[in-house]
Amino acid sequence: MPRNRIIALLLAASCAPALAAPGDRNPQVSRIVEEISAQRIEATIRKLVSYGTRNSLSETESETRGVGAARRWIKSYLESCSKGTPLQVAFDTHHVESAPRVPRPTDIVNVVATLPGTQPESRDRVYIISGHYDSMPSSPTDGEKDAPGANDDASGTAVSMELACVMSKYKFDSTIVFMAVAGEEQGLLGSTGYAKAAKAKGMDVAGMFTNDIVGNTKGADGRVDRSRVRVFAEGVPSSKELPDNVIAALRTSGENDLPTRQLGRYVKEAGERYAQGIKVDLIWRRDRYLRGGDHFPFLEAGYAALRFTEPSEDWRHQHQNVRVEDGVQFGDLPEFVDFGYVAQVARVNAAALASLALAPSVPREVEMENLRLEADTTLRWKPNPEPDVAGYRIVWRETTSAAWQHSTDVGNVTRHTLTGVSKDDFIFGLQAYDRDGNLSVAAYPKPYRPAPATTPAK
Ligand SMILES: [Zn+2]
Repeated sequence: MPRNRIIALLLAASCAPALAAPGDRNPQVSRIVEEISAQRIEATIRKLVSYGTRNSLSETESETRGVGAARRWIKSYLESCSKGTPLQVAFDTHHVESAPRVPRPTDIVNVVATLPGTQPESRDRVYIISGHYDSMPSSPTDGEKDAPGANDDASGTAVSMELACVMSKYKFDSTIVFMAVAGEEQGLLGSTGYAKAAKAKGMDVAGMFTNDIVGNTKGADGRVDRSRVRVFAEGVPSSKELPDNVIAALRTSGENDLPTRQLGRYVKEAGERYAQGIKVDLIWRRDRYLRGGDHFPFLEAGYAALRFTEPSEDWRHQHQNVRVEDGVQFGDLPEFVDFGYVAQVARVNAAALASLALAPSVPREVEMENLRLEADTTLRWKPNPEPDVAGYRIVWRETTSAAWQHSTDVGNVTRHTLTGVSKDDFIFGLQAYDRDGNLSVAAYPKPYRPAPATTPAK
């Protein structure tokens, strides 16, 4: 190509107000999704299993067995795969004197890999992806017996590590934290330590994913399902006292539009847009019955947090001593992990996480004007702080629908009226988009009504 033609193209690109339509596929996200490797994920899971046990109470001195050797390997693997990138890998240690499942003083050590955001206005906005590398045999306090934990949760740890290695070679507006946490089987201790510290520091965690048990495709009932992943999204928090913003949303039936459900809706949309052959089953529930996960402490700290889990679990291969009983193999062994499926789950995570970290923040102070009885809908909002924001999209759906059904792009304004669309009949949301077409998570508008002028009593 002649040089002046290249210059002309470069000029055209840099002067263009919008390079891509909102919601278009972003080529960077597509590349990341393509680079996810089932072979590397398999190697990571097998390596983690090779430590015999990764129970948080297991030994820490050996280089070949126990939780200490496992975490040192995770840290060195992340350091070597991200060489030459800005990824910062560190241990995050939380000392526990005693707890119901911690009979003696124990250090619970997370491995935390941080990829700093490159846009000053977005750098403090953080997305977290986590899997727990600790494991357990039948007893959570047994640090001696083998606890291979191939599915629970080397699978989720491998997702987090694979994304760290692939994504650290790319640039994102906001910061991404890739974690392998410990002490999950001890009572979510590693994630609790991290989430509490994040809240105390006032960290802006805009979304958290835990991948826990994402590798088995043959359920206890024999049903095989490689085509879906469950994403659990809490609605109204289960705390005794609700924050004011939650109560305000409930007054206009915004219970399905709190930040965690908005994040879940976004993950389903982004995941299915880029990952082929896998659907996201969004489940409007905190977690499965009788189970919990590392998203809990983040939810309790007031952050939006989701749990990814396979659709068909086989409990003979979770939290079980490795043994054969009546000809049935028990134990969380790698032969019961479908590595290709773990890679598919990783692709959904990668698509969602990369989309989030490239996109603007959720629009703020979004209000629905309530000035008179009318058949139209007017939204107004504060402009987003990011300099590359190119406009806003209003989305809406029927009050009984789970997913957005309609949308309109209204340009770079801070107020818009949808004529003939009644605010009484739909749920609305507002997304921001940037020049590359990256869409933010939606914001739920709160009603705006000016204080009534004081009139003399009649
Ligand atoms: Zn688990």
